[in-house]
Amino acid sequence: MVLSYHCPKCDALLNPNVRVVLIARYNGEAGIVLMSSKLGDYQVICDKGFCHEVAKGDIIEFQCPVCHGSLTSSSYENFAELKIINTEKADHAPCMLRFSRVSEEHATFLYDGDSVKEFGEEAGGFLDEMTIEGDWGW
Ligand SMILES: [Zn+2]
Repeated sequence: MVLSYHCPKCDALLNPNVRVVLIARYNGEAGIVLMSSKLGDYQVICDKGFCHEVAKGDIIEFQCPVCHGSLTSSSYENFAELKIINTEKADHAPCMLRFSRVSEEHATFLYDGDSVKEFGEEAGGFLDEMTIEGDWGW
């Protein structure tokens, strides 16, 4: 499955290669983070100077590197949201990806309009609230 990740605000492609490029902010510091485009893979490459500031459980603010818009979910403040498209399907409608902003909390949800798929070992704890139909429509 080849996924393209887009900013929900400006629609910029965020994974020109295999990595998803985001700006992370914490405690007045900012750095570039490169996330895996494979769902459920939580290996992150980041600016060591920035990552050094962040400990497990800290809440990171993610921004689009193109428009600098905040990716924080309007309905779940501990989560960030991206638009995602399966580029192998020509007619594939954009889905929403929601992932935890909490450092080292592995919880990701993929909404495709009528179902929710979860990824990450901590996702199960959120499943009840995440399966509730939300107004996220695109
Ligand atoms: Zn953007």
